[in-house]
Amino acid sequence: MVSAINSCALDAVAHALSDGPVPLLVLRLPEFERIAWREGKRAARRVERATLRIFHEASQRAVRAGDLTLHEPGSDLFLIAMTARGRAARLPSPVDCRTVLERVGAAVSLDSGLRVETGWTLVQRNEGAAGIDAAAGTALERGARERERYEFFSTIGHELRTPLTSIRGYLETLLDGDADPALAPQFLETARRETLRMARLLDGMLEFSLLDLSADALAQTCQLNAQIDAACEVVRPLAQLRGITLRVATSPPVNALLDADAALQLLINLIENAIKYGREGGVVNVDAQASGAEAVVRVDDDGPGIDPAERDAIFGLRVRGAQSFARPGHGIGLAIVKMIAERAGGAVRVDRSPLGGARFEVALPTKAEFGISLS
Ligand code: ADP
Repeated sequence: MVSAINSCALDAVAHALSDGPVPLLVLRLPEFERIAWREGKRAARRVERATLRIFHEASQRAVRAGDLTLHEPGSDLFLIAMTARGRAARLPSPVDCRTVLERVGAAVSLDSGLRVETGWTLVQRNEGAAGIDAAAGTALERGARERERYEFFSTIGHELRTPLTSIRGYLETLLDGDADPALAPQFLETARRETLRMARLLDGMLEFSLLDLSADALAQTCQLNAQIDAACEVVRPLAQLRGITLRVATSPPVNALLDADAALQLLINLIENAIKYGREGGVVNVDAQASGAEAVVRVDDDGPGIDPAERDAIFGLRVRGAQSFARPGHGIGLAIVKMIAERAGGAVRVDRSPLGGARFEVALPTKAEFGISLS
């Protein structure tokens, strides 16, 4: 089983595109490959045929006359090209596309019991079969990003409700005059603390939403050394508060294939953590070096480090580790670091630092695909 489809079915879509751009809705069932591998090709074909039936039934209920549904035998992709034109030849809106995708995706997932990835994109006029195949990949990637954001914001939204309820509770008690006047300052102080907590949550939310992770932003380059200096400026007050010395290694300038804002965000998150979790009165080292086609940034601290058993998990959204006790935070910083690094085609990992604490190492590409070296 492969994701790629190159058939006359795609030629049919390509033909229908002679009218102009068309939304292409994509469903992918990644488990087909696992079934073929574990249970054999015949079992996989059986599941595929059953899924195709469900896909057709669900699509018939959701799409308009004139839209095309497509699936090539042996592929794990199921496509809907919204080629029908409504009155005034209007393109379906993004909401229309998402609604159809959600309906068909939910039906396929519910009836087949298999995980379904979805996404949509516009396919341009004169797109050949190969272009449509590539567009299917783009659509799925975009769908994954949308889901990630949705999950993130719904979690934060949920988190914001708790402090809000608590603040309202305290204020109402004070307004009702039910509370012992001696307790009023304590209530107000708790409410104030909760507003600060809300502000931190909102900061995390803004950081996330401000990241422009479009293809354009990822095609930008920045000078890492300049971003390291800027990040150190931002976190210096926190370092001073904990008596920590920030040491930035003087190595030759190195560029990375990443938007400056995203690089700054990544660096602030890592250096801030090193200060937050590092030893009081200790040191934090920051270093960026070119290594082959990559730029490697290292942030070292002399704190307690991270248990090997926790090293993968801490990059998850809203995951806080053993060292988080009594330190403010929401388990968002490293998830953002990972997302930025991976979107740029790089990676992040954590190890033991020669300083005794944690070493976070981010590898970022320095070369564009067409082979121009930026370092
Ligand atoms: P937060 O710091 O808000 O908990 P992060 O996503 O930034 O969220 O970090 C996730 C977890 O990783 C932290 O809760 C902490 O346990 C661990 N961690 C991150 N950086 C360090 C570090 N430099 N030293 C020790 N532990 C760290």
